[in-house]
Amino acid sequence: MIEHFTPREIEAMRPAGRFVADTLATLRDEVAVGTNLLDIDARATELIAAAGATSCYVDYHPSFGASPFGKVICTSVNDAALHGLPHDYAVRDGDLVSLDFAVAVDGWVADSAVSFVVGRAREEDLRLIETTERALAAGIAALQPGGRLGDVSAAIGAVCREAGYGVNLQFGGHGVGRTMHGDPHVPNDSRPGRGLKLRPGLVVAIEPWLMAGTDEIYTDGDGWTLRSRDGSRAAHSEHTVALTDDGPLVLTARA
Ligand code: MG
Repeated sequence: MIEHFTPREIEAMRPAGRFVADTLATLRDEVAVGTNLLDIDARATELIAAAGATSCYVDYHPSFGASPFGKVICTSVNDAALHGLPHDYAVRDGDLVSLDFAVAVDGWVADSAVSFVVGRAREEDLRLIETTERALAAGIAALQPGGRLGDVSAAIGAVCREAGYGVNLQFGGHGVGRTMHGDPHVPNDSRPGRGLKLRPGLVVAIEPWLMAGTDEIYTDGDGWTLRSRDGSRAAHSEHTVALTDDGPLVLTARA
């Protein structure tokens, strides 16, 4: 079922969006060469507790997960694309780090992801990250009353394909509200003019992710982390966006 939310409910989602945005900005600033992925998770846990928020990840146990996730943030490094399970690893100079974070505040969920390079960046990593950010911006811009969900997917896919990357359609965006994952599914490629008719009140997480050399993934032995088949690096950009009468409102926009 696809839920639509009132302007008042969308207002009520703002604190969750702001907290997720602020937390990702803080963590991005704090992560440096030598930072352990377990410390990122501990820091996020501390910020969640201080804010009185609730993690959407810690008890998360979907059919594809080996066991409950057990951590509050996804830390995907280099060839890890999605669902990176924090483990004992100290970030190295030049690592491409993606953080994906979802919490509930006052019963409303926000979900966002950011990718960045720690230390000295390789040109091709910056290009990969920048492409996911541009695809995200294009997807958000296409979320307009009267349009179709396919417009959003097509806008994302066009940016990725024009940049020369393959698009994996196994994981994409999703409805967000009182739970982390709802309908509709928001694929990262499609044809414009198709699918759900867009009307105000829809709230979705839009999340393009790319791998530099392949569109195939496999699951790491930890049962969670999804890695690129060829070992090439991955990037991921995500925002939770509400469709209002005036167009898209990015609830997780970072200051
Ligand atoms: Mg997410």
